[in-house]
Amino acid sequence: MSSVKDTIIEFKIPEAEVSDLLTGVNRGTNSMVIVIRDDDTCGFTQPGEIQACYEKIWDDIPISLSVTPFRIPGNDKNLPKHLMGKIETLPLHENQELVQMLRAEIIAGRIDISMHGYHHTCYNGLPEYVGGEELGKKTRDGRTYLENLLGLMVSSFVPPNNAISKGGISAVIDAGMNLVNVPSLWSVRRRPMTSKTIRHIPVYYWHRKVRKMPYPYVLDMGNHKEVGYHTAGPRSRRKQLFSDLDYCERNNGVFVISTHYHAFDRKTQDGETVRALVFDLIDRAIAWPDTEFVGINTIW
Ligand SMILES: [Zn+2]
Repeated sequence: MSSVKDTIIEFKIPEAEVSDLLTGVNRGTNSMVIVIRDDDTCGFTQPGEIQACYEKIWDDIPISLSVTPFRIPGNDKNLPKHLMGKIETLPLHENQELVQMLRAEIIAGRIDISMHGYHHTCYNGLPEYVGGEELGKKTRDGRTYLENLLGLMVSSFVPPNNAISKGGISAVIDAGMNLVNVPSLWSVRRRPMTSKTIRHIPVYYWHRKVRKMPYPYVLDMGNHKEVGYHTAGPRSRRKQLFSDLDYCERNNGVFVISTHYHAFDRKTQDGETVRALVFDLIDRAIAWPDTEFVGINTIW
């Protein structure tokens, strides 16, 4: 029996379908969509930290905050010093100043919200949605909590540390959300498979392995959807990100820029600040006619 890899190599995409892929027929529109995803807003985030990053642009460009409902600081290396090693839960609703700011900006259309784990802490050294327990209940409860507290529908899930196990994906699906991450499409050990998942594999590989570029569209798995992301952070390279953005634009795809407010002043591999990299990507995208900047919950 041939392996999945062999099947992919043998698979030939009809010419008409290749043409569709190149013109963005997959998404049914003729322009690129951009999402600015900013992770780690939680019970200890100060409203001013978010405002300082985005208030100059969010009248025109919605910012999608990945929010953790019940943060436990633990030993995350990105924590403020005074929280390092703390293991008590910091519920979002106890930070009323932040909650009021989020509610107001959501109503104004400046902020959209995804769920970013439940505690966002590690278990036996593993990220929460790989090593954590009771993920089904936590995911359902966390979604309901965020929706009731902030007054919007939350249909997007961003896994902490960008890592999620097969059980974690099932928890997200059961909670009725979509995933901002595309775990290995071809691995039955690492993800739940549907017939639709399997049907995506050849085209996904065509972009990734033949073109050697990121897959530029939302993937409809039948019971949920998934989209990839592009990290703008201290380990990022400008050339790679701009190349990926240009490819997405040529394909009229969906481009999710993933960053962190707490890393905005850190330097990238090219020696510029993360802030400068994020805003340069935005400037390039604005220069193309018809580029749409949208909140994360509207791409599905
Ligand atoms: Zn995070």
